[in-house]
Amino acid sequence: MTANNKKAKCFLALNAGSSSLKFALYLDGQEKESMVGHCEQIGTGGNVRIKDIDGKPLTLPKTYELDNHEAAMQVVMDALAHFFPDIEVQAVGHRVVHGGRSFDGPIFITPTVLENLDRLVKLAPLHEPHNIAGIHAAMAAFPGVPQIACFDTAFHRSQRFVNNGFAIPYHYYEEGILRYGFHGLSYEYINAEVARIAPDLHQGKVVVAHLGNGASLCAIEAGRSKASTMGFTAIDGLPMGTRCGQLDPGVVLHFLETEGMSISELSRILYKESGLLGLSGGLSNDMRVLTEAGTEAANRAIDFFVNKVCAGVASMAAAMQGIDLLVFTAGIGEHSSLVRRKVCENLAWMGVVLDDISNERGKGRRLISAKDSKLKVMMIPTDEEVIIVRAARALLAEKVVAEF
Ligand code: ADP
Repeated sequence: MTANNKKAKCFLALNAGSSSLKFALYLDGQEKESMVGHCEQIGTGGNVRIKDIDGKPLTLPKTYELDNHEAAMQVVMDALAHFFPDIEVQAVGHRVVHGGRSFDGPIFITPTVLENLDRLVKLAPLHEPHNIAGIHAAMAAFPGVPQIACFDTAFHRSQRFVNNGFAIPYHYYEEGILRYGFHGLSYEYINAEVARIAPDLHQGKVVVAHLGNGASLCAIEAGRSKASTMGFTAIDGLPMGTRCGQLDPGVVLHFLETEGMSISELSRILYKESGLLGLSGGLSNDMRVLTEAGTEAANRAIDFFVNKVCAGVASMAAAMQGIDLLVFTAGIGEHSSLVRRKVCENLAWMGVVLDDISNERGKGRRLISAKDSKLKVMMIPTDEEVIIVRAARALLAEKVVAEF
């Protein structure tokens, strides 16, 4: 037996954003991360946070300038070598925002897959290039180790034209101008959790509210995505931290034609200066800050956000002709009892009765609707990384069977 054979097997999940790289290490057979890390401010200095399985901070012996994703990948490798010297990485799973129309599930990354991902950059210019940079950095850091792509759009490929088309000339739909959905790894996780903890409800009509810095809703009927609020890009649907969400395209035309705005100016306003930040008059994109501020501007932003979430829930329910369960998840959905309360109060007409104590003081995954609530409401913390690792394990197992 070689020394390598004695090493513990593990899987690595990577989530590369424009200025961040999140990583999570899973030992073989485990669904709880043994280590999670967050490299932030890539390109503008760098900040590294690493935690162990109990959430305790871990510190590497040196500090890092994070000039690019390769530098962040070095942190991942150093963290593995320093805190887990006796492991062997079996596969690296990557979160990839856009899978276009062709990728409807996780896939081993080959040169052909990489070529396809490069072609998708034009559909998600703010996200896809960073995902691809993360893949290249991981391929260089872990040569010979299988790399697996998990797509945020794949979960929504079950949607049909009435829900994922636009009312523009139909040939554009055939050319790929359609609603791709996004947040699919989060929805897949919640879908699996609902199947596990409430199988009857899972067979019914579920609306999931993924309310984070990016926010969207998804209608899931009998375990399959039927409709979602995010569209062709991750700017549509609900207002978000800094993204505008649904907007009359006439406003865009007005800015371009009448105001003479440049495309980059327009893009900056819609992606970076709108949403909660814009609604609050520039106060903050963070729901915590807005909640504590209590000012008119902060309340305006919160109430607008809540109103759009409620309208979106009704629209998702209409797509399924009913709703049996509403699930809150992601940063705001998991932590803001205020937003959950306001949304539930506004949905009283749908038969929602909130259990105030569970909403305010409960811990972890739980039912937050009262016993007599017609519509059940839950809070379930999401876990996109574990979906990546499950996919990586499943693909590797299939490969072993195929090669047998
Ligand atoms: P991302 O889309 O970047 O993954 P997250 O799901 O991590 O975002 O959500 C981040 C957002 O969650 C923050 O910007 C903040 O608005 C909100 N948030 C986090 N904690 C709280 C809290 N305790 N109360 C209210 N909002 C919170």
